[in-house]
Amino acid sequence: MIGAYLPGNSTVELREAPIPNPGHGEVLLRMKASAICGSDIRCIYHEHLGKGPEGYQGVIAGHEPCGQIVKTGPGCRRFGDGDRVIIYHISGCGLCNDCRRGYMISCTSERYRRAYGWQRDGGMAGYLLAEEKDLIHLPDELSYADGAQVACGFGTVYEGLQKVGISGNDAVLITGLGPVGLATGALCRKLGASLIIGIDVIEERTRLARDLGLCDEVLASGPDNVAQVRRLTGGHGVERAVDCSANDQARATAVRATRKWGKILFLGEGGRVELNPSPDMIHDQKTLFGSWVTSTWLMEELVERLVRWNLHPADLVTHRFALERVSDAYALMASGKCGKVAVCFDEELR
Ligand SMILES: [Zn+2]
Ligand SMILES: [Zn+2]
Repeated sequence: MIGAYLPGNSTVELREAPIPNPGHGEVLLRMKASAICGSDIRCIYHEHLGKGPEGYQGVIAGHEPCGQIVKTGPGCRRFGDGDRVIIYHISGCGLCNDCRRGYMISCTSERYRRAYGWQRDGGMAGYLLAEEKDLIHLPDELSYADGAQVACGFGTVYEGLQKVGISGNDAVLITGLGPVGLATGALCRKLGASLIIGIDVIEERTRLARDLGLCDEVLASGPDNVAQVRRLTGGHGVERAVDCSANDQARATAVRATRKWGKILFLGEGGRVELNPSPDMIHDQKTLFGSWVTSTWLMEELVERLVRWNLHPADLVTHRFALERVSDAYALMASGKCGKVAVCFDEELR
């Protein structure tokens, strides 16, 4: 099979690799959809940022895979040939406290914590070797391109939104309308948010948020954003703000445009922010949450909700590429002038 590797200089290398054979507790998947994440661009594509066991270890890229089981190794207990599956993108030891809670993202085992596409082969190839314990059933109502976004993209957002709570009481501000910001709009809509305001600097993204109906108001990012958000909310500010940009100005906007007693969620990774704690947070009784990825059980809950809500993450996919054109896929994602970008196979490409 052919696999895509990221040498860290904004290029992609396609190389021949053997089709793996599943060992005990492992399955072989035929890849169907493999989405590109902002963190792939930030931490691997342009340069290799991660350090030590957290770093990219020269494996086949792609940590948002979704596919169909074509072969099961001995000892598999739940999944079998032909099953359509989503993969939780970090394979943990399964036994530390974080793993037992379902948060393999923060597995404490240096030896066994290996993320697909970072420390073990990922989804940018014809086939993927996965551990059965990392799999979640993909229901018939959802496509593989839907499933590819459940772990990292929509799962991360769903987890964070559980922490701050979203209901019909809330006006929500989303700073950063990349795929995670768009997913935030889609989920807040279904959770009943009464007003959704989005901010981004890239025109393609603000247009997409508007066209897909994921935001009620879309603002171009600028120095007046806090005043604009206040005007749209009767002078108060929003009850909930979610930063998906990791931009310092946008993060400060998210905090300052939140009203008294409001809650702010930071999802965007990297970068910095400068706040004045007394006026920005303390005197207005605000709470700031950070949230990192999600758990396997909450992913299962999300999958159930997506079906109930008839919500399809694949609607955010603006561009699909065959594996042979994976270089174009990463370059487009790096430009930001797109929604979600995915490498697709078989029926997902037609
Ligand atoms: Zn990701
Ligand atoms: Zn663990």
